[in-house]
Amino acid sequence: MHKAPKIGLVSLGCPKALVDSERILTTLRAQGYEFSRDYAGADLVIVNTCGFIDSAKAESLDAIGEAIKENGKVIVTGCLGVEEDLIRKTHPKVLTVTGPHQYEQVVEAVHETSPPIHDPFVDLVPEQGLKLTPKHFSYLKISEGCSNRCSFCIIPAIRGDLVSRPVASVLYEAERLVKAGTKELLVISQDTSAYGQDIKYASTPFHGRQVKAKFFDLCAELGELGAWVRLHYVYPYPHVDAAIELMADNKILPYLDIPFQHASPTILKAMRRPANTEKTLDRINSWRKTCPDLAIRSTFVVGFPGETDEDFQMLLDWLDEAQIDRAGCFEYEPVAGAKANEIKNVVPDEIKRQRYEMLMEKAQQISVERLAKKVGRTIEVLVDDVNLEENQATARSKWDAPEIDGNVIIDNASGIKPGDMIEVKVHDSDAYDLYATPEIDCADQQAER
Ligand code: SF4
Repeated sequence: MHKAPKIGLVSLGCPKALVDSERILTTLRAQGYEFSRDYAGADLVIVNTCGFIDSAKAESLDAIGEAIKENGKVIVTGCLGVEEDLIRKTHPKVLTVTGPHQYEQVVEAVHETSPPIHDPFVDLVPEQGLKLTPKHFSYLKISEGCSNRCSFCIIPAIRGDLVSRPVASVLYEAERLVKAGTKELLVISQDTSAYGQDIKYASTPFHGRQVKAKFFDLCAELGELGAWVRLHYVYPYPHVDAAIELMADNKILPYLDIPFQHASPTILKAMRRPANTEKTLDRINSWRKTCPDLAIRSTFVVGFPGETDEDFQMLLDWLDEAQIDRAGCFEYEPVAGAKANEIKNVVPDEIKRQRYEMLMEKAQQISVERLAKKVGRTIEVLVDDVNLEENQATARSKWDAPEIDGNVIIDNASGIKPGDMIEVKVHDSDAYDLYATPEIDCADQQAER
């Protein structure tokens, strides 16, 4: 049997710091760690510091020095953690420095040095955590909250500003999920392309390498884990362009979920949308040049207060040009507390409905044409469901996210199981789905993998 790693903890400072220490200990205990009362018995030591006044700082620095001398492996957290330069100058051997309330970072730093031992016979929770999705796909939440202030949205008021997770924490979670059978990671947040801005793109160690909490770096690292990586809620900031290269290189899926919401500059301004530039169409064209297989999904709002016939026509014309592969549409609904409620010229409900229908018709027309171009191609799909009675399987291609996009309907499903990744030849299409036949016998395909 493997022995659980033992952690030592020195807790300094006020009762708030003590509560932080208790939370760290609680999380570690739930993950199977044990604790040591002395330096010698510990695999590593966490020092929770105080930085309130100079004497408290000096006491914290002394405690760090003692832990390094007696044990050697030291993680520093707490209030003095905001003075990382001072800590590293005084004690260069410190492994990781985190600030107050950064429980997750502390726990990740512990994992990095002394990984938890998962015991399937004793642990109540599997190593990858509990999931509500099928085993073969998993959502990966990279941040909480949002620092934008779109006028129709109250999420920042409910969830607060953007708080990005440390990149190592995201990557270790993704790695655990892939190890447990996940074949598709769906990256989610309120604003995926803003990832890391709030933590100044801080690096954290992932398998001994420092990785930056940056959108591109995160995508590149996820692209090495051997699963499909699908990006949701991306805003077209200029730095997104670099991720298109990863898509062209087959590192991550050629799929972007960008909630454009509208195309009229007047409406976008009234909506206070982030990354709203007039050059969006040029950007989309250049992305498609780099990665011709790119599928773009987006949502649009019709009937936003002040939307004129011209604004709406601009949106329809834009859709024609942008050729959005998968478009969803909502009729504008006021949300209590949203700034947009103050905008005059509310659009009557019947006009909203008409515009909704016109937009969906346009979107469907585009989808029919774009899917028809895929007929004849051999593509890789991930199987979600198998209906043995009908000898049919429902799968998704790299262009389809679960629940929101279309499917690939496979005839001759013998030998296929949910979670299989197989090659199929597309023989037909309609407005939303593709129809395909397995390239070779599915059992053979699975045996080849
Ligand atoms: S709609 Fe705007 S404010 Fe709301 S979560 Fe999305 S980006 Fe943030």
